[in-house]
Amino acid sequence: MAILDDKDTLHKPNSYHTIILYPGCENYDSLSNIMVPFCHDLRNLKEQGLIINNIRWNFQFYFSSDWKFLATCLGFNGAHSKNFCPWCTISKSQQGDLSKEWSISKNINKLVEKNNYYEGHTRKPLFDMIPLDHWIPDELHIMLRITDRLWSLLIAELMEQNLFNDTARKIIIDEMKRIKINFQFWQDHGSKTWNYTSLMGNDKVKVLQFFDLTKILSMRRATIVRDLWNKFYELYIKMKDPTKFKKGLYQPDNITPYIHVLVFHISEFMAIHQKWGLKAFSCSGVEKKNHEQVSYFFRKTMKDGGGKKNSQSSAIVEILQNENRTLFYNHNNIPLNYQNPKTIHIKTQNI
Ligand SMILES: [Zn+2]
Repeated sequence: MAILDDKDTLHKPNSYHTIILYPGCENYDSLSNIMVPFCHDLRNLKEQGLIINNIRWNFQFYFSSDWKFLATCLGFNGAHSKNFCPWCTISKSQQGDLSKEWSISKNINKLVEKNNYYEGHTRKPLFDMIPLDHWIPDELHIMLRITDRLWSLLIAELMEQNLFNDTARKIIIDEMKRIKINFQFWQDHGSKTWNYTSLMGNDKVKVLQFFDLTKILSMRRATIVRDLWNKFYELYIKMKDPTKFKKGLYQPDNITPYIHVLVFHISEFMAIHQKWGLKAFSCSGVEKKNHEQVSYFFRKTMKDGGGKKNSQSSAIVEILQNENRTLFYNHNNIPLNYQNPKTIHIKTQNI
């Protein structure tokens, strides 16, 4: 949980506060059980606000996560089913038709009244107090999924034209080396299909920007694909800047749900939430925080008792206690690091 008004520090892991930490599966049933008291508090906060020093603070809630978690919490099916969009009623058969405009049309209250009011919705939304246009997909996550798709389309194109041979693979690996990315192909022994290294976040951006397509495609195709990649890269950069945005860059073929959301809803989200900018809803701060907690678990906690029979301390409690301490130190401006005391050796000389 974070406070959006803290614009300057919102990207830092310490701006995110862990509300729930549990060692189970990320599924609807576990989450709905665990979140009962939390949702009760959220509803109270929304309806009654919070009074601090005689001032009533009112709250507006936003929800941001990757697609999978968003769909789970919304009681909605996945990105690969017939009705794939959490915000509008488009179905797979309509996604190639770009003459239609799609805007956020679903209403959370309808889903609260009737959980399957819209096709593809099966369970009650866990956060029924958050309006649907405040459920915002993580910009980075969408960008990464689309880059994966653009890259796999390129490989598919080479395969279709029977150009995906040892020479092509070597050219790709060498080109990756040139732009300083560690990349390999390997063949599955059983199915004989070719696999390749999945690219990490920064590497994806590098490929989009710098991969020289003329090395593996004809000049004509390389120009077209490069143009698409450049436009997507430009779009991605613009998404981070709330003041600039243009719609309508994609062809109907190969539109994945992520591209649908990017083309039809991201601009809408940007308009609705211009005050914050989409970057404010990025999950990278939460991901960093998660990484820190995992590192803390392996470094400092007794890892659920550390094998000592008498210890009752659970790792989760320890992580949360550490978080509370950090919060206290931050709030009271107490530095987290002190220099270790130094030992000084003084040699005495006999005069
Ligand atoms: Zn939609």
